[in-house]
Amino acid sequence: MVVDNKATITYVQLLKEDLVIIRLVPKDSPVPDYQPGQFITLGLPNPLEGGKIVRRAYSIASHPENRKYVELVIRWVRKPLPGRLTTQLFNAKEGDEILWLKPTGRALLINETLPNGEKDNRRIVCIGGGTGLAPFVSFAQHLHDIGDKREIIVLQGASYVDELSYKELLTELENDSIARGKDQWNFKYRAAISRPQEWFNRSWAGQVGRVETFLRP
Ligand SMILES: Cc1cc2nc3c(=O)[nH]c(=O)nc-3n(C[C@H](O)[C@H](O)[C@H](O)COP(=O)(O)OP(=O)(O)OC[C@H]3O[C@@H](n4cnc5c(N)ncnc54)[C@H](O)[C@@H]3O)c2cc1C
Repeated sequence: MVVDNKATITYVQLLKEDLVIIRLVPKDSPVPDYQPGQFITLGLPNPLEGGKIVRRAYSIASHPENRKYVELVIRWVRKPLPGRLTTQLFNAKEGDEILWLKPTGRALLINETLPNGEKDNRRIVCIGGGTGLAPFVSFAQHLHDIGDKREIIVLQGASYVDELSYKELLTELENDSIARGKDQWNFKYRAAISRPQEWFNRSWAGQVGRVETFLRP
């Protein structure tokens, strides 16, 4: 039988009508151990299903060294029908209780050494869009905290500027790289907007097109 743990939602940041960042703090235990790239399962009893607990997986955007909370970025699934858990999550408030199962899934692991035993100094490039960026946000913060000296580049793609979740956090990581020097922390963040012609994106002066355009020679 599945035994759900309890947590309190301590932070809700609505980035846009269908994109939210939430933080959870476990009620009866410390923040669980996890590795960048893993997901946590959230659950809530669904009143439309007689109180049956609906559980879904969410990639963890916070990093293992952060022992204060677990952070997630969640898209409200609305079509063709409102998603069962996300609709409830988008109605949740700070202070509400939520159920969780311990983090699991494949971690983002990068070898320290090459097969020949030499140190692996190759550049690390993380490419993602939408909520798919979450594992890389976790990974980048983790690499920062452990003092990884390799060059790390995070490339983010979005249709609209307000979907660039974590733009500020990733820009801060880049600013830290500029301030401390690349020999200490070598990090770059770049974003691409795929619908630059739309009025909502009129302020965008950065890369345009899909995120893969960064990879074109
Ligand atoms: C490893 C992993 C990591 C993930 N990480 C994230 C993450 O970081 N952020 C994130 O936002 N999501 C993530 N997801 C997706 C997440 O787990 C959920 O699938 C998502 O939030 C939708 O859940 P829901 O209960 O709201 O939707 P559901 O109720 O499961 O609905 C899913 C889809 O089916 C449709 N549907 C439902 N009922 C019907 C019906 N009767 N007829 C026709 N269509 C129907 C809905 O409209 C919707 O499009 C991840 C998934 C996995 C497996």
